[in-house]
Amino acid sequence: MALRELKVCLLGDTGVGKSSIVWRFVEDSFDPNINPTIGASFMTKTVQYQNELHKFLIWDTAGQERETFSTLKNWVKELRQHGPPNIVVAIAGNKCDLNDVREVMEKDAKDYADSIHAIFVETSAKNAININELFIEISRRIPSTDTNPPSSGKGFKLRRQPSVTKRSCC
Ligand code: GDP
Ligand code: MG
Repeated sequence: MALRELKVCLLGDTGVGKSSIVWRFVEDSFDPNINPTIGASFMTKTVQYQNELHKFLIWDTAGQERETFSTLKNWVKELRQHGPPNIVVAIAGNKCDLNDVREVMEKDAKDYADSIHAIFVETSAKNAININELFIEISRRIPSTDTNPPSSGKGFKLRRQPSVTKRSCC
């Protein structure tokens, strides 16, 4: 089975739940007293997607500011200007368990995501809602190797007979 490495970088302001999303995805747990990320952290998880293994290489960054929807648009602008051309953008509306103190209406976020052709899911790292789905959607959006042979697709490495790394952290 082919192994593809998918590089994922989490962007967003301090406290929105980036590290918690990674922790839920990789470890399937939630720590309400999670330490603030210093600098950046790196974790991996390999999951099967159709007839491929997708190894997510996840960089979790330390945000600087504390705002939500408004700065998201700045992140997207930065990505479009400086990121690779065929980048998959996914927007996680996290903490959907806190519906009574909602700051962004689901429709506003969905409309914005549609307008930039981004994935959008409302997630809760706390209650394990849509975390796996978020990454499955990323897998789904990555161009298939049939249409993107290794010679033309520089972003992915294909290896034979991979040893599956369940998770690692450094
Ligand atoms: P980061 O700075 O974006 O990495 O955010 P953290 O993962 O450190 O989380 C910041 C705070 O939000 C912590 O107190 C988490 O426990 C809390 N948190 C993260 N995800 C959720 C969630 O889905 N629901 C709720 N209620 N709290 C969350
Ligand atoms: Mg963090």
